[in-house]
Amino acid sequence: MSKIFWSPGLEQLEPYTPGEQPESKTLIKLNTNENPYPASPQALGLLKQYDFSDALRRYPDPESRELRRAIADKHKLTPEQVFVGNGSDEVLALSFYSFFRRREPLLFPDITYSFYPVYCQLFDIESRKIPLARDFSVQLQDYSAPAAGVIIPNPNAPTGRYLPLDEIEALLECQPQRVVIVDEAYIDFGGDSAITLINRYPNLLVIHTLSKSYALAGLRLGFAMGQKHLIQGLLRAKNSFNSYPIDAVAQRVATAAIRDTAWHADNCGKVIATRKRCEQTLAEIGFEVVPSQANFLLVKPPQPGAEAFNQALRKRDILVRYFNQPRISEYLRISIGTDAEMDQLIRNCKEILASQS
Ligand code: PMP
Repeated sequence: MSKIFWSPGLEQLEPYTPGEQPESKTLIKLNTNENPYPASPQALGLLKQYDFSDALRRYPDPESRELRRAIADKHKLTPEQVFVGNGSDEVLALSFYSFFRRREPLLFPDITYSFYPVYCQLFDIESRKIPLARDFSVQLQDYSAPAAGVIIPNPNAPTGRYLPLDEIEALLECQPQRVVIVDEAYIDFGGDSAITLINRYPNLLVIHTLSKSYALAGLRLGFAMGQKHLIQGLLRAKNSFNSYPIDAVAQRVATAAIRDTAWHADNCGKVIATRKRCEQTLAEIGFEVVPSQANFLLVKPPQPGAEAFNQALRKRDILVRYFNQPRISEYLRISIGTDAEMDQLIRNCKEILASQS
């Protein structure tokens, strides 16, 4: 059979595999940074009580107007400054496609969200990974090289390290004529959002998700915020792929979740309190703990090494995330669960350590 040629980027692409999603309900699942609590009762109540028959019979609002209005109101923006997609992964993909297919490389930290290199490969975008410092902090001075743009998660994943807003501003000033994306998937767990910089920086795009702090990973809803010209750029790409991006149910449920600000603040407070407690306890029993502003901790077990520790936890029905990649292969990423789940995790960690000595 003669060879069929297709996109060179696709030829070499290793399909991305997200963290394991087992069916079992008895496992303690701390491997994909999901929120351990049920979403806002306002949002979940809609699914139980609302009659969706008309909403599902008809096409959804192609512009997701109510949802964009709710997001804009919450973040003191206008709806024209908001773009919504099916999870922030889709918003990221459209952003890469719209802004970074240029002749220069896209810059991002060498340890970062593993989807970025996948999109570069898919869209034939060159990239340059900028090394992090030994303590995993971002080295700002290296971001002013000629570039197609910059993408940085804040807090970073999977390190959890956070860049304060003055450093984000410095980054925006390094590349005044290129799009700088700040992926704030985890910002609600303790950092200051760059949303407050949007009206001052025409090159800033901030991306959020309902998957983490809103406990709605299964709904698939993410959004980008930036000045109107950037949002227009995304709309051009989006409308060419799919003119009805968000389904009618997700639009309504997400709108209710965004409007329930009291639930959101309470949930973030609970996760942060649990993270702080675990940070301290894990350090006390000998783990090295990277400072985190996210809903996960990157930790280095004292013994027997991260891979073996991961296996030992797995045997005890606890799933965490092990990354077999340079610099972090000695570490495990542990998502913050409920207090009861984290107590079990810590008890099991102590037992594994005791079995080593
Ligand atoms: N950005 C970062 C930094 C993430 O860790 C994740 C979740 N894995 C995402 C974006 C994507 O989240 P979602 O597609 O669920 O909105």
